[in-house]
Amino acid sequence: EKKKLIAGNWKMNGTLEANDALVRAVVAGIKDAKCTVAVCVPAPYFAQVQMLKSGSALELGAQDVSQHTQGAYTGEVSAPMLREFGVRYAIVGHSERRQYHGETDALVAEKAKTALANGITPIVCVGETLADRESGKTEEVVKRQMAAVIHTNGHCISEIVVAYEPVWAIGTGKTATPEQAQEVHALLRKQLAAATAHAERVNILYGGSMNAGNAASLLAQPDIDGGLIGGASLKAADFLTIVAAAQ
Ligand code: 13P
Repeated sequence: EKKKLIAGNWKMNGTLEANDALVRAVVAGIKDAKCTVAVCVPAPYFAQVQMLKSGSALELGAQDVSQHTQGAYTGEVSAPMLREFGVRYAIVGHSERRQYHGETDALVAEKAKTALANGITPIVCVGETLADRESGKTEEVVKRQMAAVIHTNGHCISEIVVAYEPVWAIGTGKTATPEQAQEVHALLRKQLAAATAHAERVNILYGGSMNAGNAASLLAQPDIDGGLIGGASLKAADFLTIVAAAQ
């Protein structure tokens, strides 16, 4: 049975002082964790968190990565740069980047490809908006987002992590019910299975208002293999409660 993955997405939050306390508490709290635990931090803090987590099982993640590996791309951060700081994961295609930075399905797929080619595991986010769900388009939208990534990544697809994040559940306190989430996770698994013999290996995370109170019931679903945690990853006690629910 594969390990679950609990990944914090700090988004654009943190200070040197707050990170120090948070990462020390997380490192101390995951000594006996049965799942993989990661924190996806803003790029300026990679070095700090790399140092703080050294010798522990905590993994470091980025919140984005360029589709290019080097060159005249002002403001971008490359996968080889991430590697230099011990970064293992990079979130790609988060809905906030799709929404506020115009990231397309094709770009997200390219970012996943560049990450994989450079030894970084992409955490590929998919998810429908409230309008999509209310008009019965959930399946169509997540399948389209996933199809682009499958098409571009071919047989490497079993190496990715997927995060199903319904946009209406992000930062709203409205979580998908375990049944709603499981339904989408199952169809993503099926879509992956049509492309690889190793779809069972893929961690499919749920994200969207996951917290200390609802994590256990979500993580009990057969196709929910972990969580991508926003707000609750900024409080060590809450994050560690979610980690404990993922044993
Ligand atoms: P919240 O947990 O704050 O809803 O954010 C979820 C998310 O977007 C994780 O990537």
